[in-house]
Amino acid sequence: MKKYQWIIYDQCNIRYIEPGVTDVVFLLYTGASVASPIWPLKFNIRSNIMEYAIAKAYLAECETLGYTTHWIETNSYQKSLIDFSELHQLSSIVLMRPSEEYLARKIASYILPHTTLDMLPNRQFLITPTEFAEQFEKPPVMETFYRYMRKTRNILMEEGKPLWGKWNYDQENRNFDSQHVPSWDWKSESSSALDVAKKYFWAEDIEVHLPVTRAGALQLLEYFLEYHAHDFGYLEDAMYQKDRYVHHSLISTALNFWLLYPEEILEKITSINIPLASQEGFIRQILGWREYMRQYHLYYFDTIYSENALGHMESLPEAWWSYDGKTHNKNITTLNCVDTVIAGVQELNYSHHIERLMIIGNYVMLMGYHPHSVLRWFYEMYTDAFEWVVVPNVLSMSQYADGGKLATKPYISWGNYIDKMSDYCKGCQYSIKEKTCPMTHLYWDFVDRHQDLYAGWRTPYILSNLKKIDIEKIRIMKAQYRERLKTHLGKI
Ligand SMILES: Cc1cc2nc3c(=O)[nH]c(=O)nc-3n(C[C@H](O)[C@H](O)[C@H](O)COP(=O)(O)OP(=O)(O)OC[C@H]3O[C@@H](n4cnc5c(N)ncnc54)[C@H](O)[C@@H]3O)c2cc1C
Ligand code: SF4
Repeated sequence: MKKYQWIIYDQCNIRYIEPGVTDVVFLLYTGASVASPIWPLKFNIRSNIMEYAIAKAYLAECETLGYTTHWIETNSYQKSLIDFSELHQLSSIVLMRPSEEYLARKIASYILPHTTLDMLPNRQFLITPTEFAEQFEKPPVMETFYRYMRKTRNILMEEGKPLWGKWNYDQENRNFDSQHVPSWDWKSESSSALDVAKKYFWAEDIEVHLPVTRAGALQLLEYFLEYHAHDFGYLEDAMYQKDRYVHHSLISTALNFWLLYPEEILEKITSINIPLASQEGFIRQILGWREYMRQYHLYYFDTIYSENALGHMESLPEAWWSYDGKTHNKNITTLNCVDTVIAGVQELNYSHHIERLMIIGNYVMLMGYHPHSVLRWFYEMYTDAFEWVVVPNVLSMSQYADGGKLATKPYISWGNYIDKMSDYCKGCQYSIKEKTCPMTHLYWDFVDRHQDLYAGWRTPYILSNLKKIDIEKIRIMKAQYRERLKTHLGKI
């Protein structure tokens, strides 16, 4: 009797076919929207094209390796599983537990009349929930987790101690180089699966700049390692008006679809000769943050969707979603820093970490937009958004919705920080010097309203600076900005 394995959209890597078990692989394709615990999601066109192309290219690869394959388009996983298993008279179907927990739980609840769904443990991450639970009663601070991973995986370690005597080179990752010249120059390979996907969505003019095959993903990784890994750490937090990528790797989408896998990335980055601040900085993201976020999401799955610690209620304006693939409004908030990043995300479905956290995440929290509304934007706009990573990053890290379980204080920034780390302020209608920067007004208003959060010993300077501020004036400036924004949004 042939053995059938159901492959989920983010398991399209031969590595995840169960060894010695599977003869036939099949994929259920649900199209352009997926369910989430909060609402149905409507992904951007590039995400849809990529998901389709990745699955098609993967099935073609499986066939060349001798597997029989099936592609089934459906509106209902459960109904298609019943129909498919009856058609092929299957007594059991194997699948690897999805990395997205909401989906995993939904599938676990399916009842198929004559077929068992045999859900095997997820093998995609570097640490399993079991190992995590054996080590930690609950998620510790990320640094503790990261050191545990470094030690147990023996990465950048020497005789049980961190190589060169330091665990963390975070301080060396906060530079801005005014002479920086954009140098990202990588083009995705042409792919027949990509052409088929574009035709399917009637979107032949949409450029997809990221890989949709494993071979393409490996090329992207090699390009990053050769040309950008060296300076990754140095300019990790820097932001440039005319450079969306700086020296970031752009691998998140390929990695989250698992065209690449974390073990091979760590192996490669540790074997090249680059500054330790870049090497350690990059390893911290893959071995630390990425794995930590997955475990954090699993641990807090039952509470994370219902928390809104700061009580923010307003919905994000619809204009944030306004891009139709061809034209878009480059002036949504009137703040050059935020509008530059929104426009970049609308055009490329990408922005780097500091822009997500300290520009977009910062602005929407200071404005008081509802964390779920913010989550919907991130989820739908970015090609690397998958439940286990986008949810904790947006709700817990960026919007403080969990009340401080992940971040001890809300991550916020004022105009001076943005001016120091970017060149956005030069092109802005507001001025830090003339004290007209709305980001700064929003910042002090936020700190004033949440003084209790900043009373800790690590941030007393924020409160002592607050005392020097004319808070009445700040409130007026903030109110004026909100009024101006309302009128502006009414016109677009
Ligand atoms: C509000 C917000 C939303 C985010 N949403 C996502 C998301 O939907 N999907 C996603 O993969 N990442 C998300 N991140 C994390 C991070 O911003 C992206 O992983 C990174 O910007 C992807 O670009 P890159 O591949 O060029 O990353 P690089 O800067 O080159 O970093 C290398 C890799 O490290 C990993 N990494 C770095 N930081 C994190 C992190 N905080 N959490 C998990 N992995 C991390 C990613 O796999 C990334 O590809 C989010 C961060 C914030 C603050
Ligand atoms: S001046 Fe203020 S609003 Fe304008 S880009 Fe700088 S930080 Fe942003």
